[in-house]
Amino acid sequence: MTVLTEFLPESKYFSLTPLADGVWAALSIPGTGSWSNAGIIDIGDQTIIFDAFATPTAADDLRIAAEKLTGRQATIVLNSHYHLDHVNGDQVFKDVPIISTKLTREQIAIQQPKFIEIFKDNAGLLDQTKVEIEQEKNPEKRQELEDLLGEYSMIIKDTERFKLTLPTITFEDEITLNGARISANFITYGGGHTSSDSFLYLPKEQIIFLADLMHIGYHADIRQGNVDHWLDILKKIKNLKIKKVVSGHGTIGTAKVLDDMIDYLYAIKQISIDWIRSGGTIENVDQIDVPEKYTSYGAPSIFYYNIKSLLEKKK
Ligand SMILES: [Zn+2]
Repeated sequence: MTVLTEFLPESKYFSLTPLADGVWAALSIPGTGSWSNAGIIDIGDQTIIFDAFATPTAADDLRIAAEKLTGRQATIVLNSHYHLDHVNGDQVFKDVPIISTKLTREQIAIQQPKFIEIFKDNAGLLDQTKVEIEQEKNPEKRQELEDLLGEYSMIIKDTERFKLTLPTITFEDEITLNGARISANFITYGGGHTSSDSFLYLPKEQIIFLADLMHIGYHADIRQGNVDHWLDILKKIKNLKIKKVVSGHGTIGTAKVLDDMIDYLYAIKQISIDWIRSGGTIENVDQIDVPEKYTSYGAPSIFYYNIKSLLEKKK
């Protein structure tokens, strides 16, 4: 197999990484309107897009890149979960079948109109974020806000293009896309990060696109999910033969990152238990120090939202 990296299409919204013959990760460049990672898979006679970014503008580039890389238009789009940073670019693929679980489709139908409403003509959101950036002293938190400002600005610029776009095909547990060259399994083991999370597994290539079930170098948001279910899902995924893991936010890793993600979820569970035992309250969780191991992680505010969310759920 030869991978000609010099022929990779360039984009200001993402960078492409070849993973195997016909398989590329499109890693988000933070603050540009892509806001999450995606994938392009040429299964031999079809071109699959795994997740579609936060804005139609970034998704336009993804569509163009897929065409350049595979020599054909995108033929299938997969939605891993309902979060709008992964599916708001779907409208660029209106002419293409979009696949998700039944639950994810239901959630997109509820959440997408709300999301569009929040961002329509919302210049106040940008001003408020700019003020927060000026006041923030912590470099990781400042970076998080600067990236968010970038994502929000791009979303607001794109709101004219927002139209509710729903998956056209739904499945329950697993759907197999049998290509002439690659067989790709789109699978859900239930919900952990949200009420329903799906991932794409290529058994022969031993590559897995995990979307937000995996974060590498970023705090992972547990607020809309269930941390115990998430742990169960990751442990089940560990039974698959895996060489390369593509995260929903962050980079690409080996199977080892599954253990890191499991450790992270156990850590925030333990921190929330210890906090209450030591007399802490929900109101003052911001006094907790992010553990040394995670201080370099992006999106540190998510750490505090997570602890708060675990304590709220215990109430
Ligand atoms: Zn998500």
